[in-house]
Amino acid sequence: MLSTTHNQAATALAQRFADLSARIAAATAAAGRSDAPPLLLAVSKGQPAAVIRAAMALGLSQFGENYVTEALPKMAELEAHALVWHFIGRIQSNKTRILASRFDWVHGIDRASLAQRLSEQRGHFQAPLNICLQVNVLAEASKGGVSPAELPALIEAVRNMPRLRLRGLMCMLPYGAPLALQHQGFAEMRRLLEQAVAQGTPLDTLSMGMSDDFEPAIAEGATLLRIGTGLFGERSAAAVGGALE
Ligand SMILES: *Cc1c(COP(=O)(O)O)cnc(C)c1O
Repeated sequence: MLSTTHNQAATALAQRFADLSARIAAATAAAGRSDAPPLLLAVSKGQPAAVIRAAMALGLSQFGENYVTEALPKMAELEAHALVWHFIGRIQSNKTRILASRFDWVHGIDRASLAQRLSEQRGHFQAPLNICLQVNVLAEASKGGVSPAELPALIEAVRNMPRLRLRGLMCMLPYGAPLALQHQGFAEMRRLLEQAVAQGTPLDTLSMGMSDDFEPAIAEGATLLRIGTGLFGERSAAAVGGALE
């Protein structure tokens, strides 16, 4: 039986989802995009399995997690459901075996050595692991990601790795960047993707846009939005930061 607070939480989630869906649809229409609307990847870090179930009841089936230690118990609990799990956190090389065997997608790859390990560790009975390459598109100091200049060489190195399927590019812009800079960064991502496609690598994914910048991301061609707080509300402080890692 559902408690009243549970019902209230589910209602609040449904309302945020409806508002978010309307904003995504409006931004897609405003951009004059004729392609499919971007996928909403529900970033469930810091949220318990019960909240993920509530999101599933709204029709969401793709979830993003940042911390392996936090994600695995939730994934095990929801194993019976046909969900698609994306790893969007910082990749530690001692965790690649778990990532390769348990996740469907890994975003945030910025060196060939990590991709190589994931390819070697992906099970032969599994579908190829979908990957995105992270680009440090605004050349921020101390930010993960390959530079735009080094991207073509990284694409060349990973595009034919046997157990991987290179799907596209991912970026994370600085929080609170001015709107013009957001547009500039996202547009550059799109240019890099189109350049790779023109050079013969069939990429179909631009993983960009979070709760605070998904509208400019949609305007510049995002195909996958990674949204946490805008859908689920604030995360509990204890769950953020990956203290368990
Ligand atoms: C946490 C996180 C998100 C979601 O952030 P929100 O601001 O809560 O939408 C998206 N992408 C990455 C890589 C993240 O770590």
